[in-house]
Amino acid sequence: MRQMIIAGNWKMNKTITEAKVLVSELKEELNGAEAEVVFCPSTLVVSSVKEELKGTDIKIGAQNMYFEESGAFTGETSPLMLKDLGVNYVILGHSERRNIFGESNELINKKVVKAFETEITPILCVGESLEVRKSGKEVSFVSEQIEKCLVEVKDEQVKNMVIAYEPIWAIGTGETATSEQAEDMCKEIRNLIEKLYNTDTASTVRIQYGGSVKPANAKEILSMPNIDGALVGGAALKKDFIDIVKAI
Ligand code: PEP
Repeated sequence: MRQMIIAGNWKMNKTITEAKVLVSELKEELNGAEAEVVFCPSTLVVSSVKEELKGTDIKIGAQNMYFEESGAFTGETSPLMLKDLGVNYVILGHSERRNIFGESNELINKKVVKAFETEITPILCVGESLEVRKSGKEVSFVSEQIEKCLVEVKDEQVKNMVIAYEPIWAIGTGETATSEQAEDMCKEIRNLIEKLYNTDTASTVRIQYGGSVKPANAKEILSMPNIDGALVGGAALKKDFIDIVKAI
């Protein structure tokens, strides 16, 4: 039985002061939720958020990291630094990293491998643009992303990771994939994992949907058999996040 996982990607929002306010508004309602709940604030805010979350079962995720442990990599964050902060998860390959910062599947693969080596669980994001969807090639596009990002990743590791299907056309646009569209792709992803690994791995890996998830659509999306949770952007910055977690 896969435990649902709802992660809030705060992106480049919330100063330390603002983050503390948000955490104090959310933590009581979310502590002990049926789903695993993860807050993913800016790396600079992680220790303050962690401090505020003491005594709760809410987990912490980072939004990115580099694949080297130390050295001359100006502006980058080391996986060891994240580990030292007590981070449980790291979002890798978010479409904003891919599109704004030019991250390739090959680079993301190195980060995924390093995350496992550091014992930080990756939340690997994949998803197609509107152009790709209109061309009808979304399944092969997403499959290629997954295959390339999982090179050298073993079945036992895949079992523990999270894959987030986030169609780019639904991120921050208010436009959600229909629950059928989301389910269809998550099912394709699970079938691909079965093909690349085995049935046990495919039935254990958790697959989230992300893209304009809000209280109004959460229940329907989260009731789909192959969707094991949500990666939430905008709605994770307000009390709506509580309603999304409670929609399960
Ligand atoms: C995201 O950025 O991962 C995301 C899903 O954003 P939103 O919920 O705002 O569409």
